[in-house]
Amino acid sequence: MKIKNCRFCGHKKLNLFLDLGYCQPADQFLSIPFSKSNAQIYPLEVVKCDNCHLVQLNYTCSGKILYQQDYPYESDITKQGRKHWKEFAKSVVKRFALGSDDLVIDIGSNVGELLSNFKNEKVKVQGIDPAENIAKKAETRGIPTINAFFNKTIINILKKKNLHPKVITGTNVFAHIDDISGSLNVVKAILLPDGIFIIEAPYLKNLLDGLEYDTIYHEHLCYLSVTPLEALFKKFELEIFDIDFQKIHGGSIRVFVQHTNGVHKRSPKVQKILEEEEKQKIHDINYLKEFAEKVVDHKVQLITLLKTLKREGKKVAAVGAPAKGMTLLNYCDINKNFLEFVTEVSKLKINKYCPGTDLKIIGDNELIKQNIDYALILPWNFKDEIMSNLKEFRDGGGKFIIPLPKVTIL
Ligand SMILES: [Zn+2]
Repeated sequence: MKIKNCRFCGHKKLNLFLDLGYCQPADQFLSIPFSKSNAQIYPLEVVKCDNCHLVQLNYTCSGKILYQQDYPYESDITKQGRKHWKEFAKSVVKRFALGSDDLVIDIGSNVGELLSNFKNEKVKVQGIDPAENIAKKAETRGIPTINAFFNKTIINILKKKNLHPKVITGTNVFAHIDDISGSLNVVKAILLPDGIFIIEAPYLKNLLDGLEYDTIYHEHLCYLSVTPLEALFKKFELEIFDIDFQKIHGGSIRVFVQHTNGVHKRSPKVQKILEEEEKQKIHDINYLKEFAEKVVDHKVQLITLLKTLKREGKKVAAVGAPAKGMTLLNYCDINKNFLEFVTEVSKLKINKYCPGTDLKIIGDNELIKQNIDYALILPWNFKDEIMSNLKEFRDGGGKFIIPLPKVTIL
């Protein structure tokens, strides 16, 4: 459904600055090619609120479409990811002196990777995730998980179980929620008086600076910056008291939130970042339109390279099928016209087709078997790990194409 009001403040004036065309939701991997399926496509358009400056999609796909059809994303799949979640848990336990009586709730807990690290630190944990297959997986590895969306029904479920969180985490999930008010009301209701709400999400500034337009897809409704968050939390009598920058997902912010006038002193960093955002004009519509022009230029460059390789008779395949890669493939019209296939290590995706394309996903070993010359790395933020995993391919003369932030051959 197309939205009429800003998701954070309700304002009506939303300025369109980037149109990535229509595509199938990036996590819908089907067992038949897109051209033979009846899969729906939806607009992928980015707007900025004139009032609170939140950058967001102007279209919401229902959560049922996005998350409850064998959701294929598993948060524990990369080494870098696993390391990140381990450090996340360790640092939070240490900083806030969490003990065995404290409970951490993770919103959109996925297979429980973050929570398993909290559990290792001897803290109580509870996951909440709407994807049934994923929630089951978390349960089998010993992470208690409520299979539900994070809405007001959760308040009663937790009360009945006598669960009162000292910490609530939402990593790369806050941007997925359409009903922000509903979710923050839940956070406000369940968080202990001295509790901490921690969100982590890709940072708008990094997205703009790094031309990371591929992180824009239907599951990511909002592209967070601190200015709109500050105003949003105030409305719910919550306040930001600290912010950290993280390298993961091309550059993320970790935002620490508490009840208004809470026990934690507000770091001077918060004000500084708010001032920086103003100075760098990341919410200026002209700046955002310049970004959109760079996105068009990028598409031209990538297509030109793929056409040249095709003309030279080279065989190209893509490596990795992350959600972000699907935006890139769809927006740049990359399909069987340029690629032989796509490879993946995730068993949930192998033998399926990339959304919006007829590109089949197969195992990494096919790169060598089928004499591929160039491998386009779609999860380019994990390029070092992927290239070292594919040493044999490289030793045999294979080359890599890194699509972003600049089209590069390695
Ligand atoms: Zn707004």
